Amino acid sequence: MEKLKVGVLGATGAVGQKFIRLLDNHPWFTLVAVGASERSAGKSYAEATHWIETSEMPDFVKEMTVKNCTPEAMADVDFVFSGMDAAVAGEIEKDFASNGIPVVTNARVYRRDNHVPLLVPEVNPDHIGQIPFQRFDSNGRGFIITNPNCVCVPLVLSLKPLHDAFGVDKVLVTSMQAVSGAGYPGVPSLDIMGNVVPNIGGEEEKIMWEPLKLLGSVGDNGIVSNASIAIQASAYRVPVVEGHLLSVTVGFKTKNVSAADAISVIQNWVSPIAELNLPSAPKQPLKYFEDPAHPQPRLHVWNERGMQVSVGKMRASGVLDLAFTALGHNTVRGAAGGAVLNAELLVNKGYIKARA
Ligand code: NAP
Repeated sequence: MEKLKVGVLGATGAVGQKFIRLLDNHPWFTLVAVGASERSAGKSYAEATHWIETSEMPDFVKEMTVKNCTPEAMADVDFVFSGMDAAVAGEIEKDFASNGIPVVTNARVYRRDNHVPLLVPEVNPDHIGQIPFQRFDSNGRGFIITNPNCVCVPLVLSLKPLHDAFGVDKVLVTSMQAVSGAGYPGVPSLDIMGNVVPNIGGEEEKIMWEPLKLLGSVGDNGIVSNASIAIQASAYRVPVVEGHLLSVTVGFKTKNVSAADAISVIQNWVSPIAELNLPSAPKQPLKYFEDPAHPQPRLHVWNERGMQVSVGKMRASGVLDLAFTALGHNTVRGAAGGAVLNAELLVNKGYIKARA
């Protein structure tokens, strides 16, 4: 297959840089355009970007000229990834979709839109059935697809097998979130070194709502009926570079679910997209650790190239039914890597194709 031509909007930011890293030698996609704000447009990518990745900036991108984020400036792409600031993403992403260019975004703006899928391919692949109902582009070629908040990915991936088996009823979740989740320069060092900040603006609302859409079902009208689950979330910023760690307590509709039952369900769960062999899909999207001191961000966040969600310490809860730990890489699985996997699913299902 000839590679599809892709652009990255917000390519200079923390998530944008992860896109660059993940698109280096991608088997299906080739990066042909990078876009950012007016501050960066016209400069070479190397000049415009304060590179924060732990691997070298790939040579192929260094001399690319950063463009303005407009469909005219990126007319040669087949689709775009977006890692733009949410404050500006709405209008720009709509502009691309209206001009027939599919947008695969990390920004939150369209996550609640009635016909925009909020997608984690292993959780709700059927939600791509919402796309034909979108009306951004009268020709139906441009559309928007979103991935969820970075905490919601490890949360819904770990809940999905349990929800299918026992019916999740109530969730209490406390997230311990890495500083890279705030972008660059992010949280001031004096606020976070040797400290924990017990508030992340707007985060708890997203964690309490997005799982309901992700675990909901799509109707014939392309609208999702949200899952009926009560969620209480608390979000804390901790001095960790990469990886959001979650403490989850869960109650089920089914009575008397034991920790052993839940572990067995997680270990035997098969992802609904396993047979598609998508290039970025982890072989094992969900792994259970027997050691109660695992998973840990520093030890496990890069498992399966940052695409695996790790679970551990499943035990009985004195408040609801069970409690466990979950971990996900916030800028890979929870952002750029999740978006690349979303795009691969859309290519496999024929929604994204060459435009020429
Ligand atoms: P960031 O490091 O602050 O990067 C923001 C990017 O947006 C930069 O490339 C910036 O370009 C660009 N930008 C700003 N104003 C623009 C404009 N007017 N037109 C075009 N581009 C503009 O932020 P981030 O952490 O990468 O987050 C990016 C998005 O992903 C946000 O919507 C965020 O909520 C979401 N997200 C982040 C994470 C995470 O873990 N970090 C996880 C999930 C989702 P310049 O360099 O030119 O200013």
